[in-house]
Amino acid sequence: MTLVPRISVLYTCQHYREFTERNAPAPGDELLCLRCDKLVRVVSIVDEYRVRCCSGRCKYSANFGQAKLRSEIAASKHHRKFPKHEVKLFKGSELVHTWQAQSPDRVTTEQFLGRSVNDVNMSDPTLF
Ligand SMILES: [Zn+2]
Ligand SMILES: [Zn+2]
Repeated sequence: MTLVPRISVLYTCQHYREFTERNAPAPGDELLCLRCDKLVRVVSIVDEYRVRCCSGRCKYSANFGQAKLRSEIAASKHHRKFPKHEVKLFKGSELVHTWQAQSPDRVTTEQFLGRSVNDVNMSDPTLF
């Protein structure tokens, strides 16, 4: 999965297509719809809700279309499961909400208490 923001575009034929932000067409542009196999126009750019985990190792990222509630549930679920992850909710490219990561200092003392560093599996995704 990639961290490049993607946006959805609605065509006159009612099909959607995803573009990277840099390549996205503008409303009114004429494009080939790959599903209809004909030239159609862009009606609008659709801002989708997307959840992205900004923790270095975690590549969690999900797209929820217009389902704001589902995106919020998914984000808070992920954050509850991995409290050390910083999870962000976007609408289009606009940041809606951030679930802050727990303080790394606290995490370190909790996680490593009574264990030597050698006992800690550094590839354990729940640590970070
Ligand atoms: Zn189409
Ligand atoms: Zn994560």
